[in-house]
Amino acid sequence: MARREVIRMGHPTLRQEASEVDLKMIQTKEFKDLIIDLYDTMKAEGGIGIAAPQINVPLKVTLIELPENSERYGDLSGTPLMIIINPKLTFLTDDKQGFWEGCLSVPGLRGYVERPKKIRVDYYNENGEEKSLEVEEFLATVFQHELDHLFGKLYIDRITDTTKICYNEEFSQLVASKKINADDVLDD
Ligand code: ZN
Repeated sequence: MARREVIRMGHPTLRQEASEVDLKMIQTKEFKDLIIDLYDTMKAEGGIGIAAPQINVPLKVTLIELPENSERYGDLSGTPLMIIINPKLTFLTDDKQGFWEGCLSVPGLRGYVERPKKIRVDYYNENGEEKSLEVEEFLATVFQHELDHLFGKLYIDRITDTTKICYNEEFSQLVASKKINADDVLDD
């Protein structure tokens, strides 16, 4: 299988709602190949999540995996691969948290996004089984970022304070000068 090209902001596929996956399709070779390609692409690009629309496949599928032994992701490092199909999102609190998000489809930039802290995601896994997961804190933001891709949204749309958008190089300088806490960063 193969790494595929990640499409970037401005490509129309990133701005349309993706289609639900026909559950009968899940066991097909074509679908399994799609998952492998998504995985290979996510790894090659150094992301912790990827959504099918990002490789120009408008289906409601997203992968999330946090690498092991990652200082950045602390206790969450080693979160195993999750394959999320046809998800539905429910907010479990109005309390918000902010992280500096980055996106493979918006290369070179970061922006500070506030999102609800605790959510429930109802979805199907790669075996076509119904699953429900409650997630909070950092992982809740990761899920919301990825699920947005399935509905034609980018993190850029969620930024409420546009003074908190910057290029990676300038961001690194802000971290180095301790104006920004390096723990509040995610890449997907
Ligand atoms: Zn993204």
